[in-house]
Amino acid sequence: MADESSVACPRCGQEWLRNVRLVRFERPAVHCQECDALWIDVTPGKDNFEDYGTFMRRGGVMEPDAAAEIQLLGLYRSGTRR
Ligand SMILES: [Zn+2]
Repeated sequence: MADESSVACPRCGQEWLRNVRLVRFERPAVHCQECDALWIDVTPGKDNFEDYGTFMRRGGVMEPDAAAEIQLLGLYRSGTRR
């Protein structure tokens, strides 16, 4: 559940950020389900995201929206280290 440690998307402000795992690459990331902003190895900010679909296609994933490509781990929390 969202609470005071939840973090709203700094790009769109419309959704809570979530910790995910990019299954194909076995990498943790932070993702916004609303606008598809993606943060890898950085603290989420409004200027340092990548577009999820662009990132995945660059890595050779032609169907980045397939459910099997992204594993939802739960809400991203401020003040927690990944
Ligand atoms: Zn967003």
